[in-house]
Amino acid sequence: MAASVTDRFLRYVVIDTQSNASSPTQPSTEKQKNLGRLLVEELLEIGISDAHLDEHGYVHATIPANTPKNNVPVICFCAHMDTAPDFSGTNVKPQIVRSYQGGDIRLPGDPNQVIRVADHPVLNDLIGHDIVTSDGTTLLGADDKAGIAEIVAAAEFLTKNPDIKHGTIRILFTTDEEIGRGVDKVDLKKLGADFGYTMDGETAGTIEDETFSADAVEIAIKGVAIHPGFAYGKMENAIRIAGAIIDRLPKDMAPETTKGREGFIHPTGVSGVMEKANLSFIIRDFTEDGLKHKEALLENITKEVMKNYPGSTYTFTVKEQYRNMKVVLDRHPEIVEYAIEAIRRAGMEPVRGSIRGGTDGSRLSFMGLPCPNIFAGGHAFHSPLEFVSSQDMEKAVKTIVELTKLWEERA
Ligand SMILES: [Zn+2]
Repeated sequence: MAASVTDRFLRYVVIDTQSNASSPTQPSTEKQKNLGRLLVEELLEIGISDAHLDEHGYVHATIPANTPKNNVPVICFCAHMDTAPDFSGTNVKPQIVRSYQGGDIRLPGDPNQVIRVADHPVLNDLIGHDIVTSDGTTLLGADDKAGIAEIVAAAEFLTKNPDIKHGTIRILFTTDEEIGRGVDKVDLKKLGADFGYTMDGETAGTIEDETFSADAVEIAIKGVAIHPGFAYGKMENAIRIAGAIIDRLPKDMAPETTKGREGFIHPTGVSGVMEKANLSFIIRDFTEDGLKHKEALLENITKEVMKNYPGSTYTFTVKEQYRNMKVVLDRHPEIVEYAIEAIRRAGMEPVRGSIRGGTDGSRLSFMGLPCPNIFAGGHAFHSPLEFVSSQDMEKAVKTIVELTKLWEERA
């Protein structure tokens, strides 16, 4: 098992699968299918005979049930094949620090890239592990090829050990998760699963059942434009109005000043001329109330500012983006409870976490497939400092196997 998950991982990371938000196609980049085709080949080799790439670039496969019980739920394990557009994924040259002995890790391809213990204290827990990094000139792609390697390795383990009883297991590898389109084309009917688990989290032992709730806000301001030479007492410059709104945003409610379960108001775009200006925001919170409160606060700031500009008007538009999956998962508490038990059986102390963002799983949960997020072991996602421990990937494989056993046992 040990060699298998890391060997697979090393094969997958050298295939460039970067997604591209500005491409209208599905998948956004054709090259994601190169990994898809390899995964289908490997799944077929393991003996999973229905493995295939669909027209959207997703990989589907089924491990048939081998239990005499007929009430075991169908579980889906899900991971994404693309890597983030934030950093190059071309020509990834994975490096392995074998039996890591502590200290900072300098990456050989770029001396400026150093994985520092001070920035990544989790390294202190990885003494003796084999740590995979890039050479520092690209990201590694542990997000989420670690998750993919773990699911394939678990599939191999289960097919080679038929004495382990389990229900039907569906495997789903998606494209374009990093650009928010990961599950756009997922056909839940075809998938036919009762619930799922994404293998896309970080630290070993972590299970995440919460994501942000997310809205976008657009403020469109119409000022009063006039020749600057005749402007006295008349001009209401939309650029100044926009600036005044930004200036009044609470400083303690920004991404850079919040952590844990705190939400934020984050300006993401500003454009304008004297006559009109547009402000774009994203609003994030873990509760619906918190979200509404922040939106009300933002609109009040806008109203206050507008009082000084009686000739000007504004519109305030809220657009729902996604919701905290906890609302859905709380209706099926055993999905998370069994994952916690599986992590324990795999030899770790489970840690429950909240994601300061969204996942494929949060959207799947609201589409009807409850789907918390289990650790995949990677760290420093979307950067050249990305790393993952082989031993942690093995623990994830074990967690998947224990989870499938548990659902059969308790059915
Ligand atoms: Zn990911």
